[in-house]
Amino acid sequence: RSVPARIARQLERAHELNPRLNAFTHLYSPQGSSRDGTADGCGQAGSLQGTSVAVKDIFATADDAPTTCASKTLRQYRSLVEATVVKRLRRAGATLTGKTNMDEFGMGSANVHTDFGPVVNPAGPGGVEASLALPVDEQRAAGGSSGGSAAAVASGLCDVALASDTGGSTRLPAAYCGIYGFKPSYGLLSRYGMVAYASSLDTVGLMSRDASKLAQTFDALEAFEPLDPTSVPTAARERASAVHASLVETLTTAKTDRPLEGVRIGVPADLIPQPLLDSKTLLDPFRTFLASLRTLGASVTSVRFPAAPLGLSAYYVLASAEASSNLARYDGVQYGYRAAESDGTAEGDGHGEKGLLYAKTRSAGFGKEVKKRILLGTFALSADAFDNYYLQAQRVRRMIQLELDGLLRAPNVLQSPALASTAAAADMNSGVDFLVGPSALSTAPTVSSATSAQTTSSTASSGTNSSTRPDGDSSAPLQNSYLQDLLTVPASLAGLPALSLPAGRDASDGWPVGVTLMGQWGSDRAVLEVAQRWE
Ligand code: GLN
Repeated sequence: RSVPARIARQLERAHELNPRLNAFTHLYSPQGSSRDGTADGCGQAGSLQGTSVAVKDIFATADDAPTTCASKTLRQYRSLVEATVVKRLRRAGATLTGKTNMDEFGMGSANVHTDFGPVVNPAGPGGVEASLALPVDEQRAAGGSSGGSAAAVASGLCDVALASDTGGSTRLPAAYCGIYGFKPSYGLLSRYGMVAYASSLDTVGLMSRDASKLAQTFDALEAFEPLDPTSVPTAARERASAVHASLVETLTTAKTDRPLEGVRIGVPADLIPQPLLDSKTLLDPFRTFLASLRTLGASVTSVRFPAAPLGLSAYYVLASAEASSNLARYDGVQYGYRAAESDGTAEGDGHGEKGLLYAKTRSAGFGKEVKKRILLGTFALSADAFDNYYLQAQRVRRMIQLELDGLLRAPNVLQSPALASTAAAADMNSGVDFLVGPSALSTAPTVSSATSAQTTSSTASSGTNSSTRPDGDSSAPLQNSYLQDLLTVPASLAGLPALSLPAGRDASDGWPVGVTLMGQWGSDRAVLEVAQRWE
């Protein structure tokens, strides 16, 4: 069986561009993706028939492709099981075109921390060819960690891409590449077969150039998953549908010239930090977006979200802590890469021969950024640091959740199920339906600045002057590379759906700018509906 002609052309083009774009870690053949030639969904009847999908290499596929997470550790790893979302895509008739490059295990914001080399952003002002032809030090990063998926979608090599989003990994690259990137409510899409980074935050992400395609894909994937312990049960999904039904109804049945009539939008001033206010042009697309929401009938008001700026540090403590635990499984025994057997003469870590094998395997198998997170997370969970870091971060997370629940008009059905079905309906008069803000603090950084931020920070932390804390100039790039997540982590900490929309280009450099729409837990279809009205 071979793939539809249009998709075959996309594949051909992908083969041609990928040596420069570096978006794919594996491209399937036009004969399909499956190992035995039978399980492939292409051509099957279904809602996604004729749709090409690229899959972030964090999802297990039981086909021709390894599942690498862009890590040396898993470079040769072939899964026996397939991620549920991949199975569902195939069953809906989609054609898989390839696996995409990413930051190792999802850790990063620029897709430069990868065993396959950085992804190049194709969405520059001159188009794909011009973006790839830029001098090396002017090439832009695609954003991370789902940079490969974003670059593949943005350059038209697939219609939809699967991504993942723990703290912004779908929304940030989508913003940098000028496409839609959707992080659904936590627990709605199955994570079975998606490699774990930080389990209390991880979600499947979706990307497309087309808002209705995105909604269609979400519909094909949304279902309770018995194999994923964090999958939200059907009853809660139904409660959420009931709570958000009238909003969805308003949006779908609205008069065509003012489809957002009655919809309330809040703009949290606290989510617009100084670097953005300082820029002359970066906020312009956001202002235009707000104006278009008003034109479409929405009411737009300013709201307070004072805990927002605390999210970033809380996120990095929690995500690293969970990562240190999740990544303990890559020990060279059960999965993936194993260092050559030791000769038994070296000192080791006090755990003898086996400890030495673990240490060697993990030292060589993981990249710098991953090791940094594991060390940070292990420290945050250690007895002396636990209260100051981990518990404190949990408190901040709770604060953010409560502030967001307070701002949003619909109740959070996961927090207060009883309230959601009865009393809360009466309180639906206060609060907003959606919060909007910019998606990123800048347009895409250059690949070289994102890469040197890594080099500088690791030199600063492991350099000869290790008795003093790195500060001054040497820590500035370090801070910048993490700062980009400031605007995306609140939705992750609260588990809320958030969609980055392509809002135009920065007038000064011509690169894409994204704006983000966030809703209450379970209002995913309403969020996607707004995007389709606005499109
Ligand atoms: N940039 C963030 C991090 O490195 C978010 C990553 C993600 O969402 N997977 O943790």
